[in-house]
Amino acid sequence: MIIHVKHDAKEQEIKELTANIEAAGFEVHRSDGKNRTIIGLIGDTSKITENDMAKYRAVDEVHRISAPYKKANRLFHEDDSVIDIDGVKVGAENFMVCAGPCSVENEEDTVALAKQLKASGANTLRGGAFKPRTSPYAFQGLGVEGLRILETAKKETGLPIVSELMSTDYLDEFVEMVDVIQIGARNMQNFDLLKAVGKTNKPVLLKNGISATIKEWLMSAEYVMAGGNENVIFCERGIRTSETATRNTLDLQAVPVIQKESHLPIIVDPSHAAGVRHIIPSMAKSAVMSGASGLQIEVHQDPENAWSDGQQCLTPGEFDDLMTTINMLLKIEKKTANTEAILQK
Ligand code: PEP
Ligand code: MN
Repeated sequence: MIIHVKHDAKEQEIKELTANIEAAGFEVHRSDGKNRTIIGLIGDTSKITENDMAKYRAVDEVHRISAPYKKANRLFHEDDSVIDIDGVKVGAENFMVCAGPCSVENEEDTVALAKQLKASGANTLRGGAFKPRTSPYAFQGLGVEGLRILETAKKETGLPIVSELMSTDYLDEFVEMVDVIQIGARNMQNFDLLKAVGKTNKPVLLKNGISATIKEWLMSAEYVMAGGNENVIFCERGIRTSETATRNTLDLQAVPVIQKESHLPIIVDPSHAAGVRHIIPSMAKSAVMSGASGLQIEVHQDPENAWSDGQQCLTPGEFDDLMTTINMLLKIEKKTANTEAILQK
């Protein structure tokens, strides 16, 4: 249930309303938007009626929400949410450009690449330290040492870092060392992991599972938010379809669908969707025009010899060329990939 608060309601009246709702056993979610204040009720609202609420002077309209996602729902929060990643903003007019290698391999290359990516306009650095590989014999990532290397790259460049957490065993290290906890496609419905990151206040980059529905994806965001962490960013990374010419199929329709349903930002990862390098620039450009709030792109100095996903990595030069066009498209979309926060560091 949501309550639209009257435009002329006094703060004291709103406080009295929320206190009474809480006293009745509901969790209150308040959103002070540009147009109005919305009070969302979380709990079993079948026990209360619209008339119970209408008796408060602050109440303008009362609506029931049928969707099972509440905190993620745009009805709870009309304006776009803006997530702060150690100073870099994502959402509304703020565009995230997250680039880096699939896996962190060594300090020297990671730092050198981070510098190049920053010069090209990236505002966050990605790098896998714990890798979800299909084969148990494939490189599994450097583990905590990889996170330490990313920390060094951040010290050298100011770029906030994004890395994938696969197990709650390393939650403390991630909270201490990274700026965004990535939940990968394979763990989109690992509910224990979602609950664990929900108890932190780190931004969470939530990728879609390859066969998940958008509704299930929204419910996964709700899991994180239900724990109190409302800093969730969706990342569309391709879905499995009957098509085999590419690794996955980039579902750009997910962007406007998510934006209609939710106030949370959604970014696009064309790298894992395409699985092949030559498709990535066109899909990245299309992602900007779809209205997405950012991109995640894999880049490697020497893709042929990358320890994972080399076939889909751009070279730094290709990334730089792409960013020239992306920046032009961002002007059309009235968005900016803000780098001021990084330059101030
Ligand atoms: C990755 O970002 O390197 C990754 C494994 O992504 P996904 O979970 O989308 O496959
Ligand atoms: Mn990868």
